[in-house]
Amino acid sequence: MPPDSTDRETARVDALHRYDILDSPPEESFDRIVRLAQIAVGTPTVLISLVDRDRQWFKSRIGLDAEEGPRSTSFCTHAIDQDVPLIVENALEDSFFRSHPAVTGEPFVRFYAGVPLRTPDGYNVGTLCAVDYAPRTIAPLHIAVLQDLARLVVDELELRRLATTDSLTGLLTRRAFAVEATREAERARRTGRPLSCIAFDIDHFKSINDRYGHAAGDRVLQSVSDLCRRNLRAIDVAGRLGGEEFAALLPESGSDAAFDVAERLRAALAALPLQESGETVTVTASFGVATLRPDETSVEAALNRADAAAYRAKRSGRNRVERED
Ligand code: GH3
Ligand code: MG
Ligand code: MG
Repeated sequence: MPPDSTDRETARVDALHRYDILDSPPEESFDRIVRLAQIAVGTPTVLISLVDRDRQWFKSRIGLDAEEGPRSTSFCTHAIDQDVPLIVENALEDSFFRSHPAVTGEPFVRFYAGVPLRTPDGYNVGTLCAVDYAPRTIAPLHIAVLQDLARLVVDELELRRLATTDSLTGLLTRRAFAVEATREAERARRTGRPLSCIAFDIDHFKSINDRYGHAAGDRVLQSVSDLCRRNLRAIDVAGRLGGEEFAALLPESGSDAAFDVAERLRAALAALPLQESGETVTVTASFGVATLRPDETSVEAALNRADAAAYRAKRSGRNRVERED
């Protein structure tokens, strides 16, 4: 655990953001868990609360109208500071919580039972919590039910993440990339902002496998994905579309900006000091760049043009960037 609590909090928020779930629509699989929790505990309010940097946002909620609230008025922000459930049976008798703004003011919380949502790598990203506006007690059995249901919430989050993430590189899978591409295309159309894509394919990758082995090939793929993460912005989206084929979506970027990014990626890859079997291995890739046209409603055609341009880059000598025709 990093000693600095700011670092720890940044890593925690990153862990939450990796699930890509904040501000998503309600989903039955989470609502079902909240309903079961309410049957078990019997409180008027049950929430799946995800604690973002400055707010708590509710993936599922019963008995509360608000979709989110500030951390300053949240019990969950305290519940995630510990790994055991936070149980407050009567807030007015609790020396800390009696002066809490959610106790002295709206919604006048009296009872709170919150179980941290703990990720497999040990970050508490939120809680499953039950809230009442009158004091009440909770039996150990019911706390145990909440704990099991909280684990189900995390399992559900993990399953979704695994389905969208390529296990070798951590980049989006082809299918998840397509989902993001649709989202970005809609946004670009709505806002009138540009959207470009880059497609690239590693050069002579088969010969790297043949010469150094499949495991070395895998390490190269990981290095390429690390390089993408280092060289792209947070709003960009990178995916591994196939074996040694990658793509990136660049919102807010026109053709020239995207070309510059591709050129930077190309140069950075060619300059990577990769070592295998005591030898320096030079890895290059061929890149194609294309930009969504105003009449286009999906990224598919633009990606095809970027692919075709990458193919031209291959034929004209590899380790190059080509633009769409
Ligand atoms: P080009 O410059 O024309 O792109 O040549 P290339 O050798 O990169 O292309 P080719 O399509 O002939 O070979 C791609 C190779 O990528 C073949 C396949 O075994 C290898 N490959 C695909 N997926 C993986 C993987 O996950 N790990 C490793 N190590 N190799 C992979
Ligand atoms: Mg290929
Ligand atoms: Mg290749």
